[in-house]
Amino acid sequence: MTTALLWLRNDLRLTDNPALLSAATHDSLLPVFILETDDSPAPGPGGASRWWLHESLAALEAELRRRGSRLLCVRGDAVATLVDLAGRTGATHVYWNRRFEPAGAETDRATAAALRKRGLEVVTERGGLLFEPGEIQRADGGPFKVFTPFWKTCLRTGLGAGTAAPPHRLPPPPDAPAGPVEKLGLLPRIHWYQGMTETWKPGEAGALARIEAFAAGPVDRYKERRDTPALPATSRLSPHLHFGEISPRQVLAALSARTEAAGAVAGQESFVRQLGWREFAHHLLHHFPETVDRPLNPRFAAFPWRSGYEDELARWQQGQTGIPLVDAGMRELWHTGWMHNRVRMVVASFLTKNLLIPWQEGARWFLDTLVDADLANNTLGWQWVAGSGADAAPYFRVFNPVLQGEKFDPDGAYVKRWVPELALLPPHLVHKPWAAPPAEQSRISASGYPEPMVDLRDSRERALAAYRNITG
Ligand code: FAD
Repeated sequence: MTTALLWLRNDLRLTDNPALLSAATHDSLLPVFILETDDSPAPGPGGASRWWLHESLAALEAELRRRGSRLLCVRGDAVATLVDLAGRTGATHVYWNRRFEPAGAETDRATAAALRKRGLEVVTERGGLLFEPGEIQRADGGPFKVFTPFWKTCLRTGLGAGTAAPPHRLPPPPDAPAGPVEKLGLLPRIHWYQGMTETWKPGEAGALARIEAFAAGPVDRYKERRDTPALPATSRLSPHLHFGEISPRQVLAALSARTEAAGAVAGQESFVRQLGWREFAHHLLHHFPETVDRPLNPRFAAFPWRSGYEDELARWQQGQTGIPLVDAGMRELWHTGWMHNRVRMVVASFLTKNLLIPWQEGARWFLDTLVDADLANNTLGWQWVAGSGADAAPYFRVFNPVLQGEKFDPDGAYVKRWVPELALLPPHLVHKPWAAPPAEQSRISASGYPEPMVDLRDSRERALAAYRNITG
């Protein structure tokens, strides 16, 4: 009779879960989730992620029970918890899927060493990326800093799409203390997450429903429609992928059933390339872990960011900048915990260039408010927009939120949805209400919608001057 512990982290699924499959070969199995305490080097989840995590763990617990198992949720230090549980249950083996954020990977190395020292067998399996960071490298052995050659190398290596089915039954759990998810205290006391509850279904079943719906049609038109924020044209898989409720291999497998449909190839290629950006983000974070708060391009260390910007930062966070597309995005984020990619770029450009507020402030806010908050993707996104990252947009590319709105939200449907103060404006004025006739402007102002907090042209010039400062 052998007993094993399965340490679940960002792999909250039963399908295509290598550590679960290996661990299920034992006679008895205890799946465990540990909310690592604050002195862990891995950053804890932000507010929106905590809500998601709570829901996802509750869904997983229900699925495990259906298969004769259970989930033990504990707050604490990983080593102490696992050693304690192994002692109580007689477990001889501990299994997990590898994670790749530098702090998490460091914790795992230390945990594995500490457990082995106590005589436990540690088995780790492939995690939730197509390629483990380090597997893809340049011909000279160095890391990639540019996406296209990175992705070409991935494609040449072969993405692979084999997935493992979920087990029908799991070994019974050993006697162990109760550990309901509520004990983790992930939900806030104030019920501010109603909008997220209405928008999302966290958990594996929600993830599978999303990919099924997306692969059944929208993916065919992904390439042409992915930049239109008013449309449900992208997969919205990001939080599910982040928490490992679905693996990227499962996503590829779901798509491969559809290659014969018209337009499917172009749509799929474009979509799979986005999964490539996710791989690239982890590759960069693995090789350049300092980029979480420092610019990858060292020249930007001397960038003359402004200080004393608290009020302006708060207006940006609250969607009260007076720039419609920016406000729509920030309000979508606050309400649903998600924002369309095109709009993420626009709000990030506005913060870092028009307001000259350091990108780290924006990155922090996103990590706290996004349900898909992901250290690798978020760091890449912010450094890319700020111009300081790998393969970054050139600094002088300042997104103009009016032109972006006119191009990607031509009828203003997205802005009107999130900024109802502008709902009565005709499409040609939605993105620049300051050009409306005076009577209309008075009405907008009476509704409480603010004037633009900066002049877009002047602030762009100021940003370019700041950039010249560091380029000499
Ligand atoms: P789809 O278009 O359907 O793409 C499929 C998947 O590919 C996504 O779920 C995601 O996992 C991955 N992906 C797509 N675009 C990117 C990208 N640019 N970089 C890395 N992976 C990508 N994504 C996060 O998951 N978490 C973050 O914290 C995050 N922060 C961002 C911050 C900024 C400033 C920017 C510009 C982008 C950020 N992104 C982040 C990337 C991107 O905006 C989201 O992944 C995407 O909008 C999620 O929606 P979707 O699932 O419908 O994407």
